Amino acid sequence: MDFISRQKHLRLRLADSGLDALLVTHLPNIRYLTGFTGSAAVLVATRKGMLFFTDGRYREQANQQVRGARVSVPKGATLAAAAEALGKGIGALIGIEADHMSVAARAELKKLLPPGKKLRDTSGIVEQQRMVKDADEIALIREAVALGSELLSTALEAISPGVKETDVAAEIEYEARRKGAEGMSFETIVAAGPRSALPHGVASREPIPAKGFVVLDFGVILHGYCSDMTRTVHVGKVGREERRIYQAVLESQLAAIEAAMPGAELGQVDAAARSALRKAKLDKYFTHSTGHGVGLEIHETPRVARGQRDILTAGTVITIEPGVYIPGRGGVRIEDMVVVTERGCEVLTTATKELIEL
Ligand code: ZN
Ligand code: ZN
Repeated sequence: MDFISRQKHLRLRLADSGLDALLVTHLPNIRYLTGFTGSAAVLVATRKGMLFFTDGRYREQANQQVRGARVSVPKGATLAAAAEALGKGIGALIGIEADHMSVAARAELKKLLPPGKKLRDTSGIVEQQRMVKDADEIALIREAVALGSELLSTALEAISPGVKETDVAAEIEYEARRKGAEGMSFETIVAAGPRSALPHGVASREPIPAKGFVVLDFGVILHGYCSDMTRTVHVGKVGREERRIYQAVLESQLAAIEAAMPGAELGQVDAAARSALRKAKLDKYFTHSTGHGVGLEIHETPRVARGQRDILTAGTVITIEPGVYIPGRGGVRIEDMVVVTERGCEVLTTATKELIEL
């Protein structure tokens, strides 16, 4: 991982935004910038360099992992030590990550800083940078997605009428760990029968009915990077209307993949998914956005949603996940992760999208 060039890039952005320093408190951002994977740290990024603060539990780990920043393990609170460093000749205007700092911590910081220093709320400075993945990251994401894709067969073996959704989730999660995953990237969704109409139907203790769709949405964390995929399978013989719904969602998903390319507005990708569903008169049942960025976190910048004017760039990793949810009848969602390439995009998820009847 090229932490040094990431830090250099951030310093340029600080200069652009007129900040003298940025206090980085969001751990995934700290990991991205320095390589530190622990759960307690703050990072002072100035136009000249990086100062990293952690507590005694992480002394050893920080010394091993942190690149490009001076590691300090203060006796007192890390925030106080960071404030002390910021109080010295760094300059007056200090950015904080407003999306991640509590009101109490901000007040505390203000109190710790000498008069004359000014705090400015910032949003998404490091996140914008994280949106475009470098080659090292894409390689790790590819591995995580491959591991995730392999779990579909485990899920298929576990599904049968009468089995609890949580039992299916348990099999998926156990196999993920057996294959070396550090954990799941979010709560596993197994939503069967009428529950498949819940876009976020986290596995419940309900048994899988004899007939109907089962939505499986799950992901793993491997080397710190998240995977995310959804497949919908059908228990029992698929009826004609169910097949039509599945086909429409698949066409919608393929249309959005087709639209994902460098230079495209995110809103256009979303619109491609919606207009394919409109042809099947199912667009009113597509009640969420088309996708999201994925990387060190499961939901990252950008949002692939209606009206988003931001432009896709090569190296951005997003999900494409349209769905149709008909209350009382059931739902279908199909989700892949894709990486935007120089010409279009590459689908990273390897599991089949054929409608599987179990
Ligand atoms: Zn998902
Ligand atoms: Zn997703």
